[in-house]
Amino acid sequence: DEIATEAYLRVAKKVFFDYVNIEKRVGKEVLSTIIELNDPNEFIDNAISVVNFKESALISILEKDDTIERLVSFERLFAKETEIARIEKRITSKVRENIDKSQKEFYLREQIRAIHTELGDDEDEIDKLTQEIKDKNLPKEVLEKALKEISRLDKINPSSPDYSIILNYLDWIKDLPFGKSTVDTEDLSRAKEILDSDHFGLEKVKERIVEYLAVLKLTKTIKGPILCFVGPPGVGKTSVATSIARALNRKFVRMSLGGVKDEAEIRGHRKTYVGAMPGRIIYGLKNAGADNPVFLLDEIDKLSADIHGDPASALLEVLDPEQNPTFRDRYLEVPFDLSKVMFITTANSVDTIPYPLLDRMELIELTGYTNEEKLQIAKRYLIPKQLKLNGLKENKIEITDDAIEEIIRSYTMEAGVRNLEREIAGVIRKVATKVAQSPRRRREVITKENVAKYLGIKKHLRDIRLENDEVGAATGLAWTSVGGTTLTIEVGLMRGKGEILLTGKLGDVMKESARAAISYIRSHASEYGIEDERFEKTDIHIHVPEGATPKDGPSAGITMATAILSAFTNKPVRNDIAMTGELTLRGKVLAIGGLKEKALAAYRLGIKDVIIPKANTKDIEEIPLEIRKEINFIPLTSVQQVFEKAIKF
Ligand code: ADP
Repeated sequence: DEIATEAYLRVAKKVFFDYVNIEKRVGKEVLSTIIELNDPNEFIDNAISVVNFKESALISILEKDDTIERLVSFERLFAKETEIARIEKRITSKVRENIDKSQKEFYLREQIRAIHTELGDDEDEIDKLTQEIKDKNLPKEVLEKALKEISRLDKINPSSPDYSIILNYLDWIKDLPFGKSTVDTEDLSRAKEILDSDHFGLEKVKERIVEYLAVLKLTKTIKGPILCFVGPPGVGKTSVATSIARALNRKFVRMSLGGVKDEAEIRGHRKTYVGAMPGRIIYGLKNAGADNPVFLLDEIDKLSADIHGDPASALLEVLDPEQNPTFRDRYLEVPFDLSKVMFITTANSVDTIPYPLLDRMELIELTGYTNEEKLQIAKRYLIPKQLKLNGLKENKIEITDDAIEEIIRSYTMEAGVRNLEREIAGVIRKVATKVAQSPRRRREVITKENVAKYLGIKKHLRDIRLENDEVGAATGLAWTSVGGTTLTIEVGLMRGKGEILLTGKLGDVMKESARAAISYIRSHASEYGIEDERFEKTDIHIHVPEGATPKDGPSAGITMATAILSAFTNKPVRNDIAMTGELTLRGKVLAIGGLKEKALAAYRLGIKDVIIPKANTKDIEEIPLEIRKEINFIPLTSVQQVFEKAIKF
């Protein structure tokens, strides 16, 4: 059957064509010659002669005589082989794909190496880094992270910014004191000696520090509260902290928190930020080179918060012993154990320390020095220190006690000794300059009389207190973050319509105190012989002269009342009396804070009588004996008593 044969032949040709197309072993010309053969048997014989099939497979075709049967066998065999070839091809192409990829990587890496060499980069940088990191004895998580970064480094172009970001990161990891601690001195008596040799007085403070160190020695962990030194500037908060480090033989780091308002300053920026850096805690530790330094967080009361997050909460993480073993800086991304760090904080005032922080701190107050103490500090510490700093020998200068007292009284007005130190340095510098010009000079003696030659005219007049007993002016005592201060409250009366005018340094609380004082006096007017109509026809002007910047508080209440009553009754207020106390509408005198500082301020002014709320009597004990001897504290409970004491009726 010719037609059937032709049909089978065509099918056979098609599978042959497909097969050859996949296998690609047969040349085009051969293929077309074979395809063009019209005799089925001739076609079959030629076709199987050019392929490379197994003999056994071919036999089934060769055995047969019938053309159609042969064509059918042919078609089956080739269809099968085509399928096999197709699968084979798929497999090989996949394998090749894989090989190609790794070859490409290898090739690219080689290229990067070539670029490194071409640029003169250290070819072994990465190997070196890897080794350095491995030598570091890093905690597991840190090591893994560092190695991961190194492997990234290997893949990127050294000229890309990422490259230097990673290098920078690895530098930080390398430089940080992971697990590197200094050894504490355990000798407590030596610690006490060092504290004594660095600071005059401060007995209570030193005692508490020695206790703290004793506990540290016994427990070997810093789990207790964080010490917080509270007091005005220049009283030795920072320098006591430095002494602690010295006494323990630990490294010392100081970080000022004044004005820190961005959380990132504590916790760092993520690496992805341009110019990202770790926070200042990590920075400090890197500088310390040990994981257990004494870390001073200065001015913790001056933290603020803004849109960039709350630094106080970040600090909490740093200070809290529950959280700080795994402190995570955002930049580092790996934990750093802060539990061995001895954190100490300082503050001028407690009021503005965020509560959660305050809760974890033990407050140690350094209140300020009396003039006698200042004299001793100057003689024993400040002068020797400044002589050394300025390279002046002791035999070239003598500063008499009188001169020091004069400097304290007339050139400084402070609770601490910072300005005193500055003024003394000023004197010593002047003498040092002369000695440098003519080394053979005789010893120069600084006395009370000639201090002005060195320091210029007096900066503070000792008595800024009221010269005479005056009507409508009373001396109050206020507490400020730089220590106690005195403030004069002035009251003027004018014909008017009963208005109240408040000017000067007055905060909201003070304004309210003023109104309460006026209300009290008005309601008791008849007792003091003031006609009620006078209040309606009089404008009251209350003024607190600028100068000191007292903290806004209610403790000026009785002072205002005294000045107002004095103005209305036209009777003078005693100028040698100062007072502090909150006033209620019913005329009670309520307790106030900061008595010690206020007493120091009165003492500096030479005021003998100080009216205080009776409830504050217990605080008198804390005031240095020297001051207690000089000042007569008058504890009172009602404002009437205050008026009787202070106004000369
Ligand atoms: P603060 O941190 O409280 O503002 P500093 O610690 O900076 O004050 O002290 C200022 C200076 O006064 C330092 O030179 C310090 O050594 C000195 N000083 C303060 N108190 C004493 C003291 N009790 N004995 C010796 N020097 C002191």
